[in-house]
Amino acid sequence: NRRITLAAHPQGLPTPQDFHFDIQPAPVPTDGQVLLRTLYLSLDPYMRNLMDEIGPGYAPPVPLGETMVGGTVSRVVQSRHPQLRAGQLVLANGGWQDYSLSDGADLLPLDDMAQPSLALGGLGMPGFTAYVGLLDIGQPRPGETVVVAAATGAVGSVVGQLAKLEGARVVGIAGGADKCRHAVEALGFDLCLDRRDAQLDQRLAAACPAGIDVYFENVGGEVLDAVLPLLNIGARVPVCGFIAHYNQTSPSSAPDRLPKLLAAVLQKRIRMQGFIILDHYGERFADFRREMGAWVAQGRVRLREDLVDGLEQAPTAFAGLLEGKNFGKLVVSVARE
Ligand code: NDP
Repeated sequence: NRRITLAAHPQGLPTPQDFHFDIQPAPVPTDGQVLLRTLYLSLDPYMRNLMDEIGPGYAPPVPLGETMVGGTVSRVVQSRHPQLRAGQLVLANGGWQDYSLSDGADLLPLDDMAQPSLALGGLGMPGFTAYVGLLDIGQPRPGETVVVAAATGAVGSVVGQLAKLEGARVVGIAGGADKCRHAVEALGFDLCLDRRDAQLDQRLAAACPAGIDVYFENVGGEVLDAVLPLLNIGARVPVCGFIAHYNQTSPSSAPDRLPKLLAAVLQKRIRMQGFIILDHYGERFADFRREMGAWVAQGRVRLREDLVDGLEQAPTAFAGLLEGKNFGKLVVSVARE
């Protein structure tokens, strides 16, 4: 069993030294358990927060020396569980390793899908995040302007496409010309701006002549600086993430954004609402699976994956995710069947 453990709490961007790669015998299932073979491993920004000594609160941090956690598409290879059989494909939390054990409680059986890795992306947690965050919290109305950054990523790409289905005007922000072209030409955004453009604030103002009604917050930082003055009265801001700050070591190295933020929230009567997607499965996941499954099958929502080959690539690919090197949902292909 090849596995990647947390060797050290990163100072800033994770480096290869923060991870340890080792090989151990595969675990053996006891009564009620299944042995799972990881086929695909999802890499997601939240994992950076779980690498810190003090975790984010909604999930426990990974202890030093333990296997890095992560969602997986796995195959049951051995079953001592009454309801699960060897050969079944499941959505699991196998982590950064070849084999894992489960008692079945956290598993979701997947029908044999043409592209099972999509269960880690647009048809799974990130797509569900976009669905709940945009439709339930952002509530865009036809003709309104929606802005989303990390626009070609796992969450942002779905946010923009769902906003178009709702009849909104969508302005994306992404890292580089290729991503921006993809957002407009393949995903159907109205416009997409490069987040590294020195004139981002002027360009965003020009792109949003009627102001911004929904800002789906994925990144914080300079994008938020550019967005704040453009928010309309009554704007909705679902706070999904703030990836521009995840590697920040000292808060004082950044400008103090707080007074401007509070002034905007107050004066524009903005509704900012944070959410953790784990809270919403019971109530909304079945709706999401039905609706998103149909939209993807009909080609109304397009999903792009950034597939990396080999478990040993996970640390580098993960660091790349935190710098914008991924283009689409980042997934590691761990084993071919
Ligand atoms: P993505 O696939 O979008 O990958 C991350 C992207 O973030 C990068 O590709 C890059 O896009 C962008 N990025 C990286 N660094 C910066 C920076 N300094 N400034 C601005 N953008 C940056 O990841 P996800 O779609 O999985 O996640 C998007 C957001 O959603 C994250 O903040 C994540 O934490 C959050 N999230 C929250 C959940 C919740 O329950 N609240 C659940 C799932 C995700 P580019 O180069 O194009 O700018």
